[in-house]
Amino acid sequence: MLRLPSFTYRQPKTLPEALAMKGDAGPDGMYVAGGTDLYPNMKRRHQEPKTVISLMAVQELRADGRMGGSADGMTLGAGILLNDLSAHPTIRRSAPAVGVAAALVSTPLLRNMGTLGGNLCLDTRCNYYNQSYEWRKAIDFCMKKDGAICWVAPSSPRCWAVSSSDVAPVMVAIGAEYVLVGPAGERVVPAGRFYHNDGINYLTKQPDEILTAVRLPAPNGWDAVYHKLRRRGSFDFPVLGVAAWARWEGKKIADARIVLGGVASYPQEVVEAGAALRGSSLQAEAISAAAQAAFQPSKPMDNTDFDLSWRKQMTRVWVTRALEELRQRRHTGTTA
Ligand SMILES: Cc1cc2nc3c(=O)[nH]c(=O)nc-3n(C[C@H](O)[C@H](O)[C@H](O)COP(=O)(O)OP(=O)(O)OC[C@H]3O[C@@H](n4cnc5c(N)ncnc54)[C@H](O)[C@@H]3O)c2cc1C
Ligand code: SF4
Repeated sequence: MLRLPSFTYRQPKTLPEALAMKGDAGPDGMYVAGGTDLYPNMKRRHQEPKTVISLMAVQELRADGRMGGSADGMTLGAGILLNDLSAHPTIRRSAPAVGVAAALVSTPLLRNMGTLGGNLCLDTRCNYYNQSYEWRKAIDFCMKKDGAICWVAPSSPRCWAVSSSDVAPVMVAIGAEYVLVGPAGERVVPAGRFYHNDGINYLTKQPDEILTAVRLPAPNGWDAVYHKLRRRGSFDFPVLGVAAWARWEGKKIADARIVLGGVASYPQEVVEAGAALRGSSLQAEAISAAAQAAFQPSKPMDNTDFDLSWRKQMTRVWVTRALEELRQRRHTGTTA
């Protein structure tokens, strides 16, 4: 049985307290929310904080802001549980792709502990990394933790561990903004700039910054869907996630974004796929052109489930399905 190492557990009630505790702990301190990612990682010695600072009692993160869907959009507290997010009536009505992605994470038990913030800050994953300490030691570790080489691409100077969050691609696709609070104050970053294509330094967030809230864009004719490929429908990390967003003007698409999860170290926007949809009414030719455009740069590595060439082929299929759902929603009048 894998055991947690011993650590000091701190439970601040306010943001300033949490920041002060992190300041005291220095690089040996880490934040935790639901712990469904961090604690398994600590058991495998991926992260070894001496002090763990829980964000679960920090009221500022629990606030669900203007969930009423005002003209300014909604603000979600980063501490909202995934189960609550997926069941929230306003989310289901105004931003259903967010609720769908949250509902597809893991299992009901883990969604009852896991938070939005934890999901958006999820560690990247790899078959050579998500293993016990002894397993990793037997292969002399790898550069993401304790080692020097990348076993997926031995001549590579970088780590290719995969962004495996279900909700992050949706946030990038819809153009959400993240509110970060650190010792220097508050800053707001577009979701697309929160992630790096680097398996080790996968977030632009500083270690002491707390993700406090996520701002969803105002409903102005946009709609989005999320489709997930995984081995077991009951629960599994995505090996491919497709978030498709479009803003309609009349019968035509004024703007569109396609973002892929599970194929790179960040949620990867395929700009050419969005461009292929602009000015279209999502007819079959436009969908086919976008699916082809998304297929080209989709370069899954051999570090997660399934054969990588099959996963690449599935990009075309999954993008097509996502866009067909988007078209169907337009015809049935479910756009925000
Ligand atoms: C068996 C299993 C299956 C899973 N399947 C999936 C899946 O299918 N899809 C998926 O997306 N995830 C999956 N997960 C991962 C995880 O359960 C979810 O991503 C969950 O949402 C993580 O949230 P958390 O609050 O538990 O994060 P935590 O474990 O508490 O934190 C994760 C990371 O985020 C940081 N963090 C958390 N909150 C904040 C914040 N507010 N500000 C700054 N940093 C923060 C922590 O320091 C840590 O580094 C799975 C996990 C397990 C164990
Ligand atoms: S991609 Fe390479 S360096 Fe990164 S976790 Fe996997 S084996 Fe390690």
